[in-house]
Amino acid sequence: MSERGPDARSTDLASGGGPPTWLAASLNHCPSCGGPLELGTIPGEERPRLACAACGHIVYVNPRLVVSTVPITEAGEVILLRRGFEPGRGLWAQPGGFLEIDETPTEGAVRETLEETGLVVAPGEIIGLYSRLEAAVVVLAYEARIIGGDVRTSPEALDVRAFAPESIPWPEIAFKTTWWALVDWLGKRRPDLPAPSGARWTRDSG
Ligand SMILES: [Zn+2]
Repeated sequence: MSERGPDARSTDLASGGGPPTWLAASLNHCPSCGGPLELGTIPGEERPRLACAACGHIVYVNPRLVVSTVPITEAGEVILLRRGFEPGRGLWAQPGGFLEIDETPTEGAVRETLEETGLVVAPGEIIGLYSRLEAAVVVLAYEARIIGGDVRTSPEALDVRAFAPESIPWPEIAFKTTWWALVDWLGKRRPDLPAPSGARWTRDSG
């Protein structure tokens, strides 16, 4: 994983393969005129692009940014939520979601954390940035201080709980990106603790 950088630890796909098939399957029509899209060589473009045969509109397919926080209590515990929806239903993850087009990453992370946990947070250091080419997303994880609000559950978050760093529920973590964010946070704040045992995702898995 080292030659791809730390942000590639959470992806199994090699780079250079174009959009994942599930995403390519949804890109059939030109958003400008509704004509059929075709993958082909475009002058001035360094790789094949989807373009409209009728009007020439080029559709660039880029990853979306997921913004998330790892809220930390004053006692140094980590707030995680038990997901109510697929993917990862019933498993633990940090609060987060897709960045909206009219907000900054910090604003999006604060909004998602409030929506999912009831907590008002102040994002601080970036713990890490994690690529998942399979899902066409890049996940940004902020360490965050809790500055207000009250923990509440929702259909999205069946449970919201504070875990001591020693008690993070590693076997029940929902996503690789959550796993890596927690591993990186521990390495930064609690290097005295061992790496998680019974690893679902090891240092060599991505
Ligand atoms: Zn068109």
